Amino acid sequence: MKYLDEYRDPRIARALLAEIAQQARGHWVLMEICGGQTHTIMRYGLDELLPPSLELVHGPGCPVCVTPLETIDKALELASRPEVILVSYGDMLRVPGSRTDLFTVKAQGGDVRVVYSPTEALKIARQNPERKVVFLAIGFETTAPANAMALWQAKREGIGNFSVLVSHVLVPPAIRALMASPDCRVNGFVAPGHVCTVMGYEEYDALVRDFRVPIVVGGFEPLDLLEAVLMLVKQLEKGEAKIENQYVRSVSQQGNLHAQRAIEEVFEIADQKWRGIGTIPASGLRVREAYGDYDASRIFGLASITAEEPAECISAKVLQGLSKPTDCPAFGMRCTPQYPLGAPMVSSEGACAAYYNYRRNSSQLSALSVRAKS
Ligand code: SF4
Repeated sequence: MKYLDEYRDPRIARALLAEIAQQARGHWVLMEICGGQTHTIMRYGLDELLPPSLELVHGPGCPVCVTPLETIDKALELASRPEVILVSYGDMLRVPGSRTDLFTVKAQGGDVRVVYSPTEALKIARQNPERKVVFLAIGFETTAPANAMALWQAKREGIGNFSVLVSHVLVPPAIRALMASPDCRVNGFVAPGHVCTVMGYEEYDALVRDFRVPIVVGGFEPLDLLEAVLMLVKQLEKGEAKIENQYVRSVSQQGNLHAQRAIEEVFEIADQKWRGIGTIPASGLRVREAYGDYDASRIFGLASITAEEPAECISAKVLQGLSKPTDCPAFGMRCTPQYPLGAPMVSSEGACAAYYNYRRNSSQLSALSVRAKS
């Protein structure tokens, strides 16, 4: 398939792997930020093809995984109100809240609907003027422009029954928090190509300077990731730390200025809680006062809802690259995609789901078969 096969060519992959093996001398820990990149690594077994001195760990780049438990609980509270239509992306329906999930609320009669874009959510609001339509608007800088445009459009049309429950997170403050942690082992980052398509990569300069850590903006296909790893290894072996762009077919230094203006118009930067990790200063977006009439948290008085993470789920460590999903005692046994305990097992971008789909290790499989026989 054009524009895919070129980036999955085994011959080029072997050449890149040979060059990585030739260049890599030290032991380097590299983190890919995005859950989509994690799934490519697992699906193609890229981590197993690299020299043993290179370790890939997985970052907090799955938007469903880092949406705080409180936000899920707020969505659940709204979905159980008869006057509300709660609209969301499909992944969010199975994310466990404190007591239940949106699928269960839907099965019990709540009006929960799946959409593929905020424009669809706005359409539902137009079609149901007697109901209150709330869109669960989550994600990184990638989804923020479309969500911002939905609010802008709603205000322009005077649609009074539409609002958003927002949980938007930003990548650079998360990398800063990871690097500032005394537990951090990461020597270099593969930055998310889709986020940088929107935001450019100038804002990563400060991270490179402050922490002397190389960052390479990477794409999502196997050759993209192998090339990004090679670029990081070359920098590390030379003792360099700079920002480089592997994903040149999509990312420019300044990004998409129109999309950035849309975000700026509707949202402002705020402290943000990340599921499992806690609050990271200036790492999220909240709705500006001028769009307050479209902010579900304000309209429905949801600010007081708080929640504690389940103790058994070690997703905080997984999302910070401190543990692998297979280190979790619940992995593949008490926690599966069918019965998830934590968000990383639910999402199509979650690290635990990636390991479950592509890398259930033999000890856990045998443990499963022992359980099945007993
Ligand atoms: S396997 Fe399940 S319980 Fe363990 S960290 Fe992943 S989501 Fe949490």
